[in-house]
Amino acid sequence: TDTGSQKDRMVAEEEWLRKWETGNIWFHKERGHPLLQKYLDVLLNGRSGLRIFFPLCGKAVEMKWLADMGHSVVGVEVSEKALKEFFVEHSLPFCEEPIPEISGAKKLQTTSGNIALYCCSIYDLSSSIVGKFDGVWDRGALVAVNPCDRQRYVSLMITLMEKNSSYLLVTVSYDPNKHKGPPFYVPESEIKSLFG
Ligand code: SAH
Repeated sequence: TDTGSQKDRMVAEEEWLRKWETGNIWFHKERGHPLLQKYLDVLLNGRSGLRIFFPLCGKAVEMKWLADMGHSVVGVEVSEKALKEFFVEHSLPFCEEPIPEISGAKKLQTTSGNIALYCCSIYDLSSSIVGKFDGVWDRGALVAVNPCDRQRYVSLMITLMEKNSSYLLVTVSYDPNKHKGPPFYVPESEIKSLFG
């Protein structure tokens, strides 16, 4: 659980934007994540018509899966290119509108509004803007956040959760001295203290 070599590492927003511009998106899983399929029941817990949040969503295909099951999906992502690719690759017509509370930010959504993707930093969001969620799919999100921002990220996520919501978190386990991240190594003990 020695994460010393990663704790000061910072990836700037521009670096993420550049990854999208140059197609350096090794984290994107074209066929979706098998762990969502495996733990779908845990996320849904017998409920239907949920509001599900995808922090740092990229163009995750799981957003389409859950929308097709009748849930309402909300994502947030700094790269507009990623969000546009999502809609185009799934042949989903979408429209754009500014987010009045966040200067320069916009919301891209399907015409029915069942998938709404906010193009801004997650740190610009609050429950007064996006509401609260019944479920969260956190893959490539907590592990992508800069180590110094982890507590801020988790505290924000907690404010976005309804009372009975469920949170599926995917992390990666490896020797943090051998790879600089992201994805960063977040030990289980730290996850417990972050979420309390
Ligand atoms: N969850 C997605 C993407 C993981 S990669 C998946 O499973 O495929 C992390 C993503 O977070 C990148 O697309 C990056 O552009 C985005 N990102 C990084 N910092 C962010 C921030 N502060 N707010 C919103 N998105 C951010």
